[in-house]
Amino acid sequence: MISTHGGDDPGMIGLGGLKEKGINLEISLRLKEVLEKNGFTVVMTREKDKGLNDENASNKKAQDMQRRIAFLNGENPVLTVSIHQNSYSDPTVSGPQVFYYENSEDGKVLAEYLQESLNRTLAPGRPRKVKGNTSYYLLRRSKGTLVIVECGFLTNPAEAEHLQEAEYQQKTAEAIGEGIKKYVKEKSQNLVKKS
Ligand SMILES: [Zn+2]
Repeated sequence: MISTHGGDDPGMIGLGGLKEKGINLEISLRLKEVLEKNGFTVVMTREKDKGLNDENASNKKAQDMQRRIAFLNGENPVLTVSIHQNSYSDPTVSGPQVFYYENSEDGKVLAEYLQESLNRTLAPGRPRKVKGNTSYYLLRRSKGTLVIVECGFLTNPAEAEHLQEAEYQQKTAEAIGEGIKKYVKEKSQNLVKKS
């Protein structure tokens, strides 16, 4: 399952009004293709620039998030990745970073595989480490394993440039795909061992 912002929720807005949501969707669609080529079934919370909220909802963001969680928990996927772009006041800060729900062991393992793969493929100047979190709505409310992938910082000029390039988006998607493959493979081997 892949989940991102859309519609009225632009997500983070970076340099020169660069919107997070478009890049999220680009990378998500590429990731979907990578995973499907590897035989995975992929469900997207959106494939167009559209939120899950009603146009006239009083709190669009809240309704979008609630529907996202209801949809997600209904689908009951093996895992969910939520694709985002980061921001920070210091423009020198860069690099991908993966967040997991602090109480989820599986979430931590998945996050570490994704982080490892992203660091290897994108080779950021200062590689970042995974981070546990207990306050993000999606992390708290997802019944299954969910991680948030911040692909890079739109507030870093070089990274913002890269994140808009098709080739870099593809590399990012493939790196995430590799991490997912490793996680699923290990999970299924553990299941075989246990049975
Ligand atoms: Zn975001």
